[in-house]
Amino acid sequence: PENYVTLEFLSRSSNEGFARLAAAAFAAQLDPTLDELGDIKTAVSEAVTNAIVHAYPNQLGKIVMKLRMLENQTLELVIRDWGCGMEDVEQARQPLFTTGGEERSGMGFTIMESFMNQLAVKSAPGKGTTVTMRK
Ligand code: ATP
Ligand code: MG
Repeated sequence: PENYVTLEFLSRSSNEGFARLAAAAFAAQLDPTLDELGDIKTAVSEAVTNAIVHAYPNQLGKIVMKLRMLENQTLELVIRDWGCGMEDVEQARQPLFTTGGEERSGMGFTIMESFMNQLAVKSAPGKGTTVTMRK
């Protein structure tokens, strides 16, 4: 059955855990295995962390996470920010590509892609980024 939840929050790092648990709670209606639940939590964590650390590096900003239940027991997660955006999404999605220096490994998008069934990234410099994942 169709269902959705939308969550809006400030890009504080403490909200990452909240978003991750909210996604897990929403996904519970699919009766996921523990493995599937772990995959979803990890993917959400990567996407939300990116919005917190990359989209709004020097200020706090708005993040919206939409959780949707589609047909065929498909879960859709949309994480959107209105931060700095990316010049080149294809490059950003490459394994090990990072603008985060030593602290980051450049594996976030690669993890999202491997843990979920579909990953789409839309971004425009100065406008923000939308990450859509399905499982
Ligand atoms: P890791 O996730 O392993 O800690 P990372 O965040 O650098 O490292 P990815 O998550 O794969 O690696 O992201 C790659 C790059 O894409 C980032 O370094 C950053 O330049 C850019 N990026 C990702 N998400 C966003 C976003 N929401 N807004 C702006 N830039 C982003
Ligand atoms: Mg990342």
